[in-house]
Amino acid sequence: MIETVHIDMTREALGSRMSPRAIEIVIAANLKQDSLRGQFGHDEYHFDNNAFEKSYAYVTEQRGYVLASLMSPGVLSAWIAFGKLTHAVQDFYSHTNYISMWIDQHNGTPPPPPEIDPVRKDIIESPDMYSAKIYLPWDALYFVPFMRKLSIKFLPKDSHGRMNLDSPKQGPLFEYARAAAIKRTVHEFEILEKMLPPEMLTKFVDL
Ligand SMILES: [Zn+2]
Repeated sequence: MIETVHIDMTREALGSRMSPRAIEIVIAANLKQDSLRGQFGHDEYHFDNNAFEKSYAYVTEQRGYVLASLMSPGVLSAWIAFGKLTHAVQDFYSHTNYISMWIDQHNGTPPPPPEIDPVRKDIIESPDMYSAKIYLPWDALYFVPFMRKLSIKFLPKDSHGRMNLDSPKQGPLFEYARAAAIKRTVHEFEILEKMLPPEMLTKFVDL
């Protein structure tokens, strides 16, 4: 998803749950995953290239870092780990076919975006799930604004460029991806809420 979308979604999900300075660090770490170094060779940051196992392992690992960091005196690295985790789970909805599978289950009349369930086990575990593949060079050219239209012509259906629900420009499915990503971010926060001992949680939320 594009920067402004990640920022707004993270604020919307965590604004009332964590301190402003904590959220700023979470957002900075979230956005850093889309730097050039994070874009290529790191499918697990964005649920790209069908790297589901690797991506889930990455999310679990970052959750572990949150806990481990909170056991030491500082709190910064816990916020950074959570920021990385939020990026991956948010991208899940813009780079996989989760949204179209959820909509397909409603026979042409899907409920409005805020009603989406972001963690339907039957969809997540379905053998029909797939995520965006990077087809070079066209998927790289997709990111060059004046080449976008041309690259779309050459990209297959399961390509990053064609599947991408990263901004409102991508049509009506984007609002579902956005709503699901916000709910999923809250869901990830709630996992930590249950997992962390009270004093660690207080340190983490920083309110
Ligand atoms: Zn990303």
